[in-house]
Amino acid sequence: MALPVRSSAQAPSSRLQEIIAESERIEELSDSEGEYEDMGTATMEEQANIAYLESVKMPIRDGLETATSRLQDETLDVVLPFLEGNPHDFPLNVYGLPKLQRKSHIAMLEMALGDYPAPFAMMDASRPWIIYWGLQGLSALGHDVSKYQKQTAHTFSLAQHPEGGYGGGYGQLPHLACTYATVLSLAMAGGEETYESIDRKAMWHYLGRMKQTDGGFTMVAGGEEDIRGAFCAVVILSLLNIPLDLPPDAPARANGLTTFVDNLGDWVSKCQSWDGGISAAPGNEAHGAYAFCGLGCLSIIGPPKETLNKYLNVPLLIHWLSSRQASPEGGYNGRTNKLVDGCYSHWVGGCWSLVEAATTPGLWNRTALARYILSAAQDKKGGLRDKPGKHSDAYHTCYNLAGLSHAQHKYVYDEEVNKGLGSGNLGAPYHWKTEGEFEQDDVWGEEDVVRGVHPVFIIPYRAVYECRRYFEEKESF
Ligand SMILES: [Zn+2]
Repeated sequence: MALPVRSSAQAPSSRLQEIIAESERIEELSDSEGEYEDMGTATMEEQANIAYLESVKMPIRDGLETATSRLQDETLDVVLPFLEGNPHDFPLNVYGLPKLQRKSHIAMLEMALGDYPAPFAMMDASRPWIIYWGLQGLSALGHDVSKYQKQTAHTFSLAQHPEGGYGGGYGQLPHLACTYATVLSLAMAGGEETYESIDRKAMWHYLGRMKQTDGGFTMVAGGEEDIRGAFCAVVILSLLNIPLDLPPDAPARANGLTTFVDNLGDWVSKCQSWDGGISAAPGNEAHGAYAFCGLGCLSIIGPPKETLNKYLNVPLLIHWLSSRQASPEGGYNGRTNKLVDGCYSHWVGGCWSLVEAATTPGLWNRTALARYILSAAQDKKGGLRDKPGKHSDAYHTCYNLAGLSHAQHKYVYDEEVNKGLGSGNLGAPYHWKTEGEFEQDDVWGEEDVVRGVHPVFIIPYRAVYECRRYFEEKESF
């Protein structure tokens, strides 16, 4: 692509020199970073992209060179050509950005849901995840997944453990992450036969064994207790409308706990780190995916406006989430000093839908994220990726598309929605709706819009509401 050489570095401002000693000074980002050869004249679209990138570039950066800063520079070298031009020669939308390559992403996900060659045997325990990513990605693209209904129910009927929960496949021990991906996949597949394949009574006992006295959940019997457990457990309890009372054989009962939510909000609260993010367990480093798990958990145990404000320092959280959006890349990273990566389009981008429901809309730069996804995260071969230079996969495809949906749709929490649903246990997440598309639409065209997704469960609304309704109408297990 034809691109001009960018202008030379600017001197640090005199104001900066006045207020910070030379030795401690952070220097303005040199324009020579990531410079490349003059290859001709930029097209109109490229000139517009370059002007945009100049306008959002970080004005300052730490002058200390480290392995991390070098990696960040290398990343910019890889990503910027995609934000400025169109190296994959995708057809452009009306705003001069690559169109969402719907057909090739669908083809890639259909392949991901098919057979695998022998070396993939090591991925066997991740099978529920691959199915979840595939089905959710296809749904986001507006593709009908009903043809997978029977297959999905059959696959998971073999992975269900006789004592409750799901493993990766037949004969594997149950794991809360596998169980979470399974329940979401079965809800997407839908239908009475699929719902009835779930042994909810055994699931109740299984989740009872995961509940810990301090409020959290372990991922596996005798294994690690972390915030994934807290989120996965309440997702399953809520979608399947399982009783909130702990089963009689739950070990936590011996220490005085009586319900699944005892001490849970306080436990999530302890996972908020000093810098405002949310970590896997109290005292750990904050991370984007754990932040989504924490916020998702709180948005299930009550309306986000109540629970987020009760259990978290929300202003500090907003500061940490905002700091995750890379500039000028526009996508998100997962931790402080890490690199932009397409999967955080959801893990961090998705946090905003929940935080905005607890505060006010308009807290983040949606168009910058959408620009990263359309321009840099689409793989020429189909599917979406971490960043240019990496291969696409079902995981990054699913979560980039979810991120695009958070950018494009207005997700609103409204008690008036579904008044007849969710009146029982963990019923808060049944009052979400999509209230049209976000108006800042100068990045995506109509054909680049993905389907709305339930902002807590990350499956289509229909799947969420039908599944819960089915189990609410059932009188017992
Ligand atoms: Zn990633």
